[in-house]
Amino acid sequence: MLNTKSAEKVFPVMSAYGRFPITIVKGKGSYVWDDTGKKYLDYTAGIAVLALGHVPDAVEAVLKKQLDTLWHCSNLFHIASQEKLAAMLADLSCCDQVFFCNSGAEANEAAIKLARRYAHLIKHKENGHIVTFEHSFHGRTIATLTATAQKKIQDGFGPLVPGFRYLPFNSEEAVQAIAEDSDCIAVMLEMIQGEGGVLPADKPWIEALAKVCGEKGILLIVDEVQTGIGRTGTLFAYEQYGIEPDIVTVAKALGSGIPIGAVLAKKAVSQVFTPGTHGSTFGGNPFATAAGVATLETFKKQNVLEQCRKNAASLTEKLNGLKKKYPGAIKEVRGKGLLIGVETFAPAIEWVNQLREEHRVLVLTAGKNVLRVLPPLVTNEAEIGYFTEALDKVLGN
Ligand code: PLP
Repeated sequence: MLNTKSAEKVFPVMSAYGRFPITIVKGKGSYVWDDTGKKYLDYTAGIAVLALGHVPDAVEAVLKKQLDTLWHCSNLFHIASQEKLAAMLADLSCCDQVFFCNSGAEANEAAIKLARRYAHLIKHKENGHIVTFEHSFHGRTIATLTATAQKKIQDGFGPLVPGFRYLPFNSEEAVQAIAEDSDCIAVMLEMIQGEGGVLPADKPWIEALAKVCGEKGILLIVDEVQTGIGRTGTLFAYEQYGIEPDIVTVAKALGSGIPIGAVLAKKAVSQVFTPGTHGSTFGGNPFATAAGVATLETFKKQNVLEQCRKNAASLTEKLNGLKKKYPGAIKEVRGKGLLIGVETFAPAIEWVNQLREEHRVLVLTAGKNVLRVLPPLVTNEAEIGYFTEALDKVLGN
């Protein structure tokens, strides 16, 4: 046991994140303000969380009411907003039932547990594995970082969890390997690898993968934590690939910033979660699920998917214009909807810092050479113009 507290005064928060040198104290729409009063255009959207922007009026009104009514009650009781949100998600997806939790990693944990239990109980396979893909990202818990086929995420955390096999993304070889793998119980993937560098899956590859999974009774799990709830222009990115996964995970944008995650599954799979097999104290609590219901209702009322597609077309066109203007700086503009990656020749962090310091625009990287642009889905032409003009000035320097 290390029984002495540090003699030095230490920063009280663990240093697990590299942080930008600003403290954000307020947000509204596409903008945030720091503690010195400076206003920034926020094209990080809390890493694909704030689809409706910061503190959207419709969700705010519902949550203010919820604050006066009920904050929490356990899953030992029925929770009306949880049941309503589950019904909405089931209606809007290819799945039948929903389990709620608090984050993307937790949703993927639940998906892994569902797939394993389905294999045990229905397929009588106790030692099968789940295939995931190189450059994927599925979370930071021990099982989900094992699922994440990136060495830098796993380093120093062994022993990892058994039962995963990694294959190359977008590769015909991978489809063949799965076809020949009698121990594969599930395939888990992102339709666009977000953290891995904004790498979209090829449609023919997904079709081939889904076909093999269908033929062999292998479960198809789609991680829509980053792509889901409208980010790519459809509620779920899988819709654009013409497939119907067995399990879908969501989190990030579902609660407009209130922590929530969910795993959706077809009844044939979800039936294996019987009372006592899985749980989460806060999962699906009244406050978080009220935020989820209000978020989805706002999507419908404000035609948010339509807004996303329109904004995405304009932003992508302008970014492609910059690629043409600066062929030595921008290698590629890719992604779907408003999950956009701009691949750079130089380290993307330099642009991120210049955009923040010189133009008060916040954007992210995805890996070393990709600028990740994640506006609220409800951004507008003026904001898109401001952002692309700022980037033009940075590139023209
Ligand atoms: N899956 C994907 C595709 C993600 O992008 C992320 C987070 O970035 C996660 C899972 C993990 O989500 P969370 O950070 O909410 O645990």
